[in-house]
Amino acid sequence: VNTERIVATTLSVLLERIVPALEAIVTPAQVLLSSHDDFAKYGSDETEDLVFLPDIVVRPETTEQVSEILKLCYREKVPITPRGGGTGLSGGALPVRGGVVLSLERMNKILEIDKENFFARVQPGVITQTFQETVEAEGLFYPPDPASRGSCTIGGNLAEGAGGPRALKYGVTKDYVHGVEAVLPQGDIVRFGGKLLKDVVGYSVLGLLIGSEGTLAVITEATLRLISLPGYRRTLLVPFTDMAAAARTVPAIMRRGIVPCALEFMEKACIKAIEVHREMKIQHSDAAAQLLIEVDGNDETQLEQELEVIAEECEKENALEVFVAETTAKQNEVWEMRRSAGEAVKSISAYKEEDTVVPRARLPELVEGIHEIAHRWGISIISYGHAGDGNIHCNILKRDLDDGYWNEVLPKAIEEIFRLTVRLGGTISGEHGIGFSQKRYLPIALGHAEIELMKHLKNTFDPLGLLNPGKIFPDS
Ligand SMILES: Cc1cc2nc3c(=O)[nH]c(=O)nc-3n(C[C@H](O)[C@H](O)[C@H](O)COP(=O)(O)OP(=O)(O)OC[C@H]3O[C@@H](n4cnc5c(N)ncnc54)[C@H](O)[C@@H]3O)c2cc1C
Repeated sequence: VNTERIVATTLSVLLERIVPALEAIVTPAQVLLSSHDDFAKYGSDETEDLVFLPDIVVRPETTEQVSEILKLCYREKVPITPRGGGTGLSGGALPVRGGVVLSLERMNKILEIDKENFFARVQPGVITQTFQETVEAEGLFYPPDPASRGSCTIGGNLAEGAGGPRALKYGVTKDYVHGVEAVLPQGDIVRFGGKLLKDVVGYSVLGLLIGSEGTLAVITEATLRLISLPGYRRTLLVPFTDMAAAARTVPAIMRRGIVPCALEFMEKACIKAIEVHREMKIQHSDAAAQLLIEVDGNDETQLEQELEVIAEECEKENALEVFVAETTAKQNEVWEMRRSAGEAVKSISAYKEEDTVVPRARLPELVEGIHEIAHRWGISIISYGHAGDGNIHCNILKRDLDDGYWNEVLPKAIEEIFRLTVRLGGTISGEHGIGFSQKRYLPIALGHAEIELMKHLKNTFDPLGLLNPGKIFPDS
């Protein structure tokens, strides 16, 4: 990660040399400078209030253009940061060293849906929900469903190794990627995998690229596995008087041999924030926590039996009610509520979101531990997330704390939360990545040897440290 080797390039040199060359590659309209109306949006994503403006934004349409752009930046030693939908929660798409933002938004075509082989080929800028709805219209199913699916992209999902509520039953993005085309920092185009269910030729570079957070290569095409769309689903919302009871219900359901397709957790403060943000009333909003549980499949009778077992387990933990969303409209309403949790909580005040993950059975200890830490430091933490995966997003809120106390206490509280997570057998990010905002905490999760190995890999791909610099490694 030789960021020190990046030769400082002044803006005037950039404009003089790079801009005309970029314009020749993609047309002048697709090279944006600071005077452009849309320019500012490329300086931030959904991570807190971080802003790092690029010097130039370029929006290619083809893999060949991406390759030419990377060759040019490498030759001129200009940092370049790939960007998808800009919904990242660890600052991965922020151009923290300036230079060029490479926006993949115009590479947004679904190239092929192969119904014979159950695969699709897509460009990286396709919006995840658009892709899901397109394959569902064909009776097919692409399960990975980050809550941001309406605005994140497939390229961003691959780069972050995105998960989502359905990961519990169906797995995460990496479980569906069977082929990639990518451009290396020096401009070479590489392809790995394809419409294959088996492929063990050489190292799994494909596996390495998924979750590489835009630091090793730019993904320009993905071959994604599809499955059959399940015919039925049932959605439940269950309030509990005791947060630990809600957390205990999660492994209890699984122990009964049921794998829900989603098992989401929202604590009371989260529900209250949604009520305020969406100006709506949620039943039992004074309950300590609520679980959103969904089962799906093709056998309606079996689903009804599963619902009974789930209700039994919830009642054992004194659930206040087991609300079944009877219609598709009601199901969508429940999901809209859950998907708005992040936005609702973050609208309260300045915040820092953490993406803790532990083995599922340790969840009650994590939830209790986070509350104990919050109480001890006198700070407010609101948690929600993918309880079935042991993956809880805890938002530390500034509320009316003064800046001095907030700046002093925040890193200490985060460190304690992460140390607790690791003690419970977990790690510091389940799906949001390390990016820029979490890099100082990397050594809590990984040892010296592991970090050095990763740095060697980065150096092999990107000897000048120009592709998405300032990410993942604490000293980057
Ligand atoms: C309300 C909300 C809910 C969310 N819910 C979830 C959730 O349930 N599960 C989850 O996993 N995440 C979730 N996220 C986080 C975020 O949406 C995901 O990380 C998503 O995968 C980012 O995709 P993007 O297209 O917005 O990527 P960006 O934010 O644009 O970029 C993310 C990273 O990917 C890199 N990148 C983007 N495109 C490429 C490419 N083509 N080639 C190489 N690198 C690339 C960037 O450099 C950056 O490092 C949520 C975010 C929000 C705001």
